[in-house]
Parts: sequence; structure tokens; C-alpha cells
Amino acid sequence: MKYRSTAGKSPEVSLEQAVVKGLAPDRGLYMPLEFPRLSEDFIKRLPEMSLPEMASEIAMALFGEDVDKDKLKALTEETMNFPIPLVKVTDNKYSLELFHGPTLAFKDVGARFMARLLGYFNRNNKERLVNVLVATSGDTGSAVANGFLGVEGVRVFVLYPKGKVSPIQESQFTTLGRNIVALEVDGTFDDCQALVKQAFLDPELNEKMMLTSANSINVARFLPQMFYYFHAYAQAVKAGVDPENVVVCVPSGNFGNITAGLIAKKMGLPIKRFIAANNANDIFYEYLKTGEYKPRHSVQTIANAMDVGDPSNFARVLDLYGSDHDAICAEISGTTYTDDEIAATVKSTLEETGYQLDPHGAVGYRALTELLEPGETGIFLETAHPAKFKETVEAITGKEVAIPERLQAFMAGTKQSIEIPADFPAFKYLLLTHLTSDRH
Ligand SMILES: *Cc1c(COP(=O)(O)O)cnc(C)c1O
Repeated sequence: MKYRSTAGKSPEVSLEQAVVKGLAPDRGLYMPLEFPRLSEDFIKRLPEMSLPEMASEIAMALFGEDVDKDKLKALTEETMNFPIPLVKVTDNKYSLELFHGPTLAFKDVGARFMARLLGYFNRNNKERLVNVLVATSGDTGSAVANGFLGVEGVRVFVLYPKGKVSPIQESQFTTLGRNIVALEVDGTFDDCQALVKQAFLDPELNEKMMLTSANSINVARFLPQMFYYFHAYAQAVKAGVDPENVVVCVPSGNFGNITAGLIAKKMGLPIKRFIAANNANDIFYEYLKTGEYKPRHSVQTIANAMDVGDPSNFARVLDLYGSDHDAICAEISGTTYTDDEIAATVKSTLEETGYQLDPHGAVGYRALTELLEPGETGIFLETAHPAKFKETVEAITGKEVAIPERLQAFMAGTKQSIEIPADFPAFKYLLLTHLTSDRH
């Protein structure tokens, strides 16, 4: 399968090129040229299939021409080696718990798949060293660092704002060592992102080293997220939910997650409609209402992984619907909640149902309580474990949130990070001098 750019001004490329490059040269995002339709028989069999089984069939449909079939099956099954249960919260509302992976957030799925795929593409190219640059405000850095730990021919630079990520989050990418380099930037998340963007545009750096991105602009990061939409649907049908009336609600920031769901639907998954739930950073909600897309600076909220003022995957949403506003509104509805509303939802849901939401999942759950129509069943994506936002959640509910063991294990490690100013020449120098070190 070839990949084309949403901007339409650069040549089609192979899967390998799309993964290694990240962004297309015309600054567009890569999209598969086609969305192979999965058979009705496959959809019927879903409730009887395990997550790794269905994931490898979906992966085969998308990537089967580009990756050796046995290898693809193995790497898909390895990616999906943790459960993603669908948990009933009320009669018509279910939580898809995406936090049972190594770093307790949904980004584990895409990061683990991308890491293994890059490792596969590097197998015949022992000289190649791919440098993954990732700016993080928390969750992306931990998922990417853990996904890529020990992968041959790949080195990861995680840039994070000094003093602005929680100790739990910081420990998840600063204690690993090996091929993971943590850079503590004296600045904000926006500064980190600006350094990474500038690096991708710097001719000298790009001539001397291979740079790629591991956020959801990369096709190998966002496409595999499709797997769990199928698994969610399968579990709902198995639980006796009306298969024609499943609505999926996605707490959204950069819109990579929901885009994977929209593509799952295009490939044949019978999701009735989608809800994109926003916090105060509600640029998409505004777009649905007005038809105008007006990016703006992000504001800080208690659902901070969704604090995005210019969602990078908006280009993919437009592309999927030929920029037709009516078509987009027919398939996706939107909503927006303030911090007070999010907190009230965390508190009341725990009191009324016993279910502990994290602030991101709370945005999704609340949207279902307001937007579901009679006869519909809603699934919201519970995108991270509440313990990742322990202080926030405990302050809201007054109840302790236990930290899972695998999170505690990170916190016991020793922090290794390099401090740099928020200054491009310093960053560039560091990248270039790391050039001479050995391939891991
Ligand atoms: C990244 C993230 C999101 C937003 O996902 P997008 O794909 O960027 O829309 C939501 N919740 C959590 C916990 C996240 O880490």
C-alpha cells in the first residue's frame, strides 16, 4: 500500500518511507491510499475473536503488502499483549479501559507498534540509526520511551519541560537509559515542541542524521489504534448490546485517537456515530458549530493531555470527508467541558456508580450522559489510569487512588536526564555530538 500526503503536493511513498519520515515534505500528513474493506464475515466473527487475533487480521489488511506476514502477525500480537476490557458503568454506558499497558495510557498501543515496525524496517540496514524526537507534556514521552526501549537501530530523544510534568510521569521516561535520552528543557511544553519542529526543518541536521517523529502524525502510531475500536465493538455485541446502535465517544486532543476510529468505520466496523469530547480547548467543537477552523493557543486544564490548540490530525479528519462540513457533522458531534464540569463528573460518577474516572475519561463519560439518544449504547474511551493524575483526582474525590505496581516500579529508578536551555543551537549541538556514539 502506498501513502499519500493530505497536502497533495508530494509524491506517494511506501509504508517504510512514511514511517521513517513522519511528516510529508509538503508538511501534509500521510494517509493510506485506500482503506481496505474488511469482510462481513470478519465483522460477524469479531465477538469470538481475541484482541491479538483480530488485530493481526486488521494489520494484515492494511500492512500485509509491506511487511512479511509472519513478522507482521508476531509484531502485532506482541504489541497487543495486555487486556483492553470493556467495563459496564451504567446500563447504556461502557468504559473501554485503555490503561492496562506498560505506561497506563492508550498511547502504549501505537508506540509499541511503531517501535516494532521501525525495528523490522531496520533489520536489513544495520548501519541505519533512526532518531526519534518527541516533545511531551507527560503521556506521549512515557509511552514512546517504553515502547522503543531496546529497539535496534533507534534512538529516542524525549524533550520535556523542566518542573512541569508530574514526578510519576517524569520517572517513566528518565529512568530507562539505554537508547532513551531524556532532555529536560528549561522552558514550557510549547518550547519543547518548537525545538522538535525546528529540528525537522533544519537542513544540516537532516543531512547528517535520520530524524522522525513518534507523535500521532506518524502513520505507525495512529493507525494501530484502530485495533481496539474493533475489540470494543466485539465486547459490546458479546454483552448483548444492539450492534446497530453503538456510539463511541473519544476524549480528544490532537485527534489521532478519533481518526483511527473513523478509519475503522470506513473499513467496515459498524459504529453508528462518534462524539469528539473536548475540554476548554474546544477548537473542534467550534469548527462543528461554525464551519470555521480557528486554531488558538492552548489553555491549561485538569485533562492536560487534551490541551491542544491546533490539533495536528484535524487535517486527516478533513481529508477523510473531502473537507465537507456537513458530512463531518453527520458522523461526529462535539462537546466541551470546563474544569469544574470535569471535576463534578469525576466526583458524581464515583459516588453514583462506584466507577473511578480519570479527568480525560470524565470528559468522555459526561458527553455520553448528555448526548446519547434513546436506544443507543455509548462507549467512552478511558484513555489513562486515574493514578497518573493522582493528586488531581484525590483532591476532587477526597479518596485515595492506589498506584498500580508497574507505576511504582518506575518511581524506584534513578533519574538520568540532560538539562538544556530552550534554545535551538544548544539542542542541535547536542543532537550532532550524540551522532558519534554507538548504535544501540
Ligand atoms: C494523548 C491523550 C489524549 C488525546 O488523544 P489524541 O489522540 O491526541 O486526541 C486523551 N487522553 C489521554 C490520557 C492522553 O494521553
